[in-house]
Amino acid sequence: MASACCSTSTLGHQHLHHGLQHSGEFSPAHHAKNSPTTEMADTVVVGQIVTNDPNHPAADAMAISGGKIIGIGSTSDIEGLIGPSTQTYKPDGFVLPGLIDPHMHIWTSLLNLTWTDLSHQKCPKFDDVIATVTSTAQKARPGDFVLGKAFDPSLYPGEPVVTRDQLDRAAPNNPVLIMNASGHFFYANSAAFAAAGVTDTTPDPAGGVFGRVDGKLNGTIGEPPAMMVMLGALPKPSPQDIAAGVNEILMAAARRGVTSVREAATGSIAGIGEYALLHQLNGVKRLPVRVSTAQFSVLPGLSPKEVSAAWAAAGVTPFSGDEMVRADAWKVVTDGSNQGRSGYFLQPYLGEEAGGKADWTPEGLHDVLSAGLDAGWQLMIHTNGDAAVEFALSTLEELLPNHANNDLRHRFEHCSFTTDDQLRRMAEAGISPSFLMNHVYYWGAAFRDTILGPSRAGRLDRVASAYAAGLTPSLHSDYNVTDIDPLSSARTAVLRKLNADGSVLNPAECVTPEQALAAITTNAAWHIHADDRGSLAVGKRADFAIASDNPWASDPASWPSINFHETYIDGKPAFQA
Ligand SMILES: [Zn+2]
Repeated sequence: MASACCSTSTLGHQHLHHGLQHSGEFSPAHHAKNSPTTEMADTVVVGQIVTNDPNHPAADAMAISGGKIIGIGSTSDIEGLIGPSTQTYKPDGFVLPGLIDPHMHIWTSLLNLTWTDLSHQKCPKFDDVIATVTSTAQKARPGDFVLGKAFDPSLYPGEPVVTRDQLDRAAPNNPVLIMNASGHFFYANSAAFAAAGVTDTTPDPAGGVFGRVDGKLNGTIGEPPAMMVMLGALPKPSPQDIAAGVNEILMAAARRGVTSVREAATGSIAGIGEYALLHQLNGVKRLPVRVSTAQFSVLPGLSPKEVSAAWAAAGVTPFSGDEMVRADAWKVVTDGSNQGRSGYFLQPYLGEEAGGKADWTPEGLHDVLSAGLDAGWQLMIHTNGDAAVEFALSTLEELLPNHANNDLRHRFEHCSFTTDDQLRRMAEAGISPSFLMNHVYYWGAAFRDTILGPSRAGRLDRVASAYAAGLTPSLHSDYNVTDIDPLSSARTAVLRKLNADGSVLNPAECVTPEQALAAITTNAAWHIHADDRGSLAVGKRADFAIASDNPWASDPASWPSINFHETYIDGKPAFQA
């Protein structure tokens, strides 16, 4: 999955494009004047304030003016900032800096937001997958699509897939389409193939496969070109559905204390108009979470230079937009999904001859990275296997010295498997890792036991080594690969406990609670070029969350059960439970 998200460059264009047609023009919204307009506070927050500022970790009062913090400390420290119109707010709980998820996906997640969850978490046994499809079909009207997502064969013994015959028996009166958690496969029954006009004799489209046994469709559909044929048969979402879906995704983030995210492949589903649509939605009603966007570097039929020009022509240039929706990065995907065995490794996968392959030729990668650098973008490069890290790193080692802007905080995404040498060279080149930390929790045992073996699996998500190399790591969800829940990611960075058996995956890579929490606050803010967020201090934005406990003073194992009652952006309510 790590790639579900990032590699479906064309998947869904036909599906969502319909409801998302835009000229590409956008106009920033202005919900709040962000510069202090007076010496006096418009709002004062009084309570247990956890600042994440090492110089003053705790405070009793925080004064806010024009969305920014103008005073923080004891109540007497801010007394002079209280005027006749200052409102005082005494929250019930701990005031924390708003958390930051620096890599998640709105648009690819929207594609299957309402589909039935068939994840290993919801369906711990393979039989549960079939039973869930059966019961969903029984509740559906005959003929309506039964849609499932997040089915993950890699987490069941023997890596079983669902077959067309099984799905025909489970849903005799409904078309069924199930998405593999990696985003690279669908599984369908006979009625779904009929709805899409696919028969035993339909030729495979270039780059896609309709799986067959003895010439008969077996139900497996591989890779976007074939998957798009199936998506063409689904009912199209309305613009209202899309607006509601975006709000639902961002509200789910806010419920976990998040006030800023990076959308990690803007334009990957419906093209450049995705960016304008975020502004449009924010213009109608302020979004519940700030969105930093990473512009997708692949658009159908265009060269990397042409893609860059298309974004610029739409007015989407580095750091354009406003403080709610801002364009910040250039997204490039170099390999696939490690648990889907399509990540690119220096050594073969267990039981295979090869370690996957890169998504680009050396020339192609050179061109797509150059296009982003020439336009002045921060690079955000999906590198999942250690060979993908090597490929991107060696290309950048050539390119970066020839570019003036070397301090744009270029990032390797997931950066799941690295060598010591690579971490050292990343530090030298100024490239930071962002880890999909719950890879360890959910797939650590599968990597150890069936996909990579114990020695390589131990090198998954080397947060401690990244810190030791002088890097600035952040943690992310890659939603909807995992749920948006920064405290859960941070918990895993401290404990590295596996969901499967409770064992610890390479204790040498465990970090301190402070390091883990930095990776979802100040480091994550740095990764999205938002240095005015991630801690509560004078001059910073008043982005904060009201929580049931203080993670800086509680057991990391308990972090995922901390509740958030409210979030605030620029001192104004963004979410209330
Ligand atoms: Zn992603």
